[in-house]
Amino acid sequence: MLRSFVRTFAVSGIFLLFPLFAHAQASSFSVGTASAAPGQKSTGYLEVPDGVDAATKIPVIVINGEKRGPVLALVSGAHGTEYTSIIAIEKLINLLAPSQISGTVVLLPLVNIQSFEQKVPHVNPVDNKSMNRFYPGKADGTQTERASFLITKQVVDRCDYLIDYHGGDLDESLIPYAYWAPTGKEAQDQISKEMVLAFGLDRIIVWRDRPTDLAATRYLDNTSTARGKPSIVVEAGHAGTVEADDVALLVNGTLSTMRSLKMLSGDPRPIENPVWLDRVVDVLSDGPGIWYPLVKRGTYVQEGMKIGYVTDYFGKPILEARAPVSGIILHINAVPSLKKGDNIADIGVIAARAP
Ligand SMILES: [Zn+2]
Repeated sequence: MLRSFVRTFAVSGIFLLFPLFAHAQASSFSVGTASAAPGQKSTGYLEVPDGVDAATKIPVIVINGEKRGPVLALVSGAHGTEYTSIIAIEKLINLLAPSQISGTVVLLPLVNIQSFEQKVPHVNPVDNKSMNRFYPGKADGTQTERASFLITKQVVDRCDYLIDYHGGDLDESLIPYAYWAPTGKEAQDQISKEMVLAFGLDRIIVWRDRPTDLAATRYLDNTSTARGKPSIVVEAGHAGTVEADDVALLVNGTLSTMRSLKMLSGDPRPIENPVWLDRVVDVLSDGPGIWYPLVKRGTYVQEGMKIGYVTDYFGKPILEARAPVSGIILHINAVPSLKKGDNIADIGVIAARAP
């Protein structure tokens, strides 16, 4: 009797241990040179090989939770001087503990390292391309395209959800907002909508009619969305500043979204009363000059209202900038410098009803 009991115990012991072991083996997660077993945090690089121009290395952090769950990608610094978004992800690297996470978090805090180091806004100074316009990238393209190709293969193709972080660049005075891009696929749209509400930013742009051709998705979030992964874009910070309130919006929004995805315990804190915007209209400069704004970020403007003016270098007014639509100033040029084609402002048009 005793003997048979011992045997039974030994057998079930093996059965108990084996699945755990198999789980541990199966769930190690690697991105680039970062490889983390369950319960571990690992750092490394996505190594972009040289080609028509120089090689580069993109820092990557893999945080593999002790419990199983989905893979969430957090990407910032495609525009390397949108500092608030970069600092928020840097904070999350230390804040997120593998012991508390169900699933895996892949963080790319600084995609455009040359932009950051050289303080060049909007583009990768190596090839003068925006690092959020050339997805899904090309293995034999310029550095931006090769980096985008690697991020598509290593991060987008292997995640379940993605959040892309931006903010006002050096020349953009911006209020925080998020983008939600419905696809018409109900299940996916429901999750992405839950994500954007859980993130908690109180202005949400509904971004429709995105490119659906998988070879020409252009934007990171759209590359992920088009591949069936619920994804959102969030923006906070402005004009080179790193204000604690803005960083907190992005850090706390991420934690709340992870709770809505059941990757962290606790309840999310979704925004109850967002302002939905259904269109963004650019105001562009039609010549060089000195910019004098008359409104601030967040100002509500009416169609036809003067929002600023431009003078030549002798102080003579040469242009009145007027709002082409009624709406909210999402961002406005933060510096006096203007050249032809520069973005003076983005105005968000308030949706007649919530989606
Ligand atoms: Zn950006």
